[in-house]
Amino acid sequence: MRVNINLTIEFAYIIAAVLFILGIKMLAKPERARRGNLLSALGMLVAVVASMFECCISFTWIVPGLIIGSAIGVVAARAVQMTAMPQMVAILNGFGGIASLLVGWENYHNDPMSTPFVTVALFLAVFIGGVTFAGSMIAYAKLGGRISGKPIRFAQQKVLNAALIAVIVICGIVFSADPGAPYAYPLFISIMLLSLALGVSGVIPIGGADMPVVIALLNSYSGLAGCAVGFVILNNVLIVAGALVGASGIILTGIMCKAMNRSLPNVLFGGLQAGGGGEAEVTGSVKPISPEDAFFVLEAARSVVIVPGYGMAVAQAQHAVRELGEILEQNGAEVRYAIHPVAGRMPGHMNVLLAEANVTYEQLVEMDDVNPTMETVDVCLVIGANDVVNPAARENPSSSIYGMPIINADKARTVIVFKRSMAPGFAGIENSLFTKENSRMLFGDAKTTVQQLVSEFKAAAE
Ligand code: NDP
Repeated sequence: MRVNINLTIEFAYIIAAVLFILGIKMLAKPERARRGNLLSALGMLVAVVASMFECCISFTWIVPGLIIGSAIGVVAARAVQMTAMPQMVAILNGFGGIASLLVGWENYHNDPMSTPFVTVALFLAVFIGGVTFAGSMIAYAKLGGRISGKPIRFAQQKVLNAALIAVIVICGIVFSADPGAPYAYPLFISIMLLSLALGVSGVIPIGGADMPVVIALLNSYSGLAGCAVGFVILNNVLIVAGALVGASGIILTGIMCKAMNRSLPNVLFGGLQAGGGGEAEVTGSVKPISPEDAFFVLEAARSVVIVPGYGMAVAQAQHAVRELGEILEQNGAEVRYAIHPVAGRMPGHMNVLLAEANVTYEQLVEMDDVNPTMETVDVCLVIGANDVVNPAARENPSSSIYGMPIINADKARTVIVFKRSMAPGFAGIENSLFTKENSRMLFGDAKTTVQQLVSEFKAAAE
């Protein structure tokens, strides 16, 4: 009977792993992402239920923990604002890290004598888990404005971080050599504390706006810590799930760095080199446009591309933008939304906002697909985007964003930029798009100006 239960559990774990893999695969396409998420969640449910039937589990703590944890999770996920999603992800990563650390600690506390392989896995679970937890809490605090989002730097910071890593690794080697020795337990606690310290000192020098890249990386770490602890407690599904999270987090980090044209070390240690003197002076005059005049331009347009950016999220203009898009379509225009991979401040930021506003997936186009068609576009509406449409990335080799792929909004016949002022975007550099011959600036809060345009169309229809 016991054998059968074990077999059933292992089979359930395989099902769960398959569901995780299918779920991740489906996340690649926006129209299947929701189902992919549900599939992965189902996989996690299967894994959790199956692990409850593992040998010698005491339900005394697990059941209250499950109930309280699930209740907090449901309330928090329902209450979280879309703009606070990065903080939510940060805190969840952190919990993943601390869970691996605690499970590893509990395992060592009860059974200090393990095989060398398991001891090394234990060390890695505690090391990576500690860094993930502390780093994620700092990321959470920065993103939520609980501490300053500015990079916090002090003298010899990189030296300190390098020294911390070296000490932790040395402690890990000594610990793994003989985990039963009298000095091993204090060493273990030291590894834990130093890892937490490394998480703090590694993340505080990174600016708040770079946090999404750091969060993707910490997400990967939380997976690796889970994978390591899976080897400690010999749980196959934890090993598979941890490896999947670790690998996908690394891939996402790479995609984001590439889309920003920055290397990971530059994000982690260097900061952006904006304003480094290589920026060309933007010449030419800005041509403001009123909502009334913008209406006349759009009224005649047959092909419109909308490029949303961080400002659309700040203004919460997505519903007004969707309404404008619908009106333009009713007016006979083909309307597409061009999404830059790092528009906004978190991966998929624009996709999430537009989905919330019920923009259909068919209308979303990726940068590589829209760029070859830009010259045939009558009007490009740039809504609160800046860096992701800055031609300096294409035209000025000495610019700090040179080489960053951009949406070629400047190639459309007419460009209307919705923003409040001439202030730069995240990269802190001027944008030559704003003074191009075919550009018009519609100044004001994006939600208000888009709503004004909608009103113009409605008034004309009456
Ligand atoms: P930017 O930060 O370049 O520009 C946003 C623009 O929005 C600003 O110029 C601002 O101008 C305008 N804006 C702000 N509030 C409003 C408002 N209420 N109404 C209208 N406009 C407003 O954003 P992008 O999306 O173009 O680029 C994203 C940048 O963030 C890139 O440099 C990217 O590398 C970086 N980044 C992205 C990450 C991600 O995960 N997506 C992660 C880390 C960095 P004004 O103040 O004049 O209104």
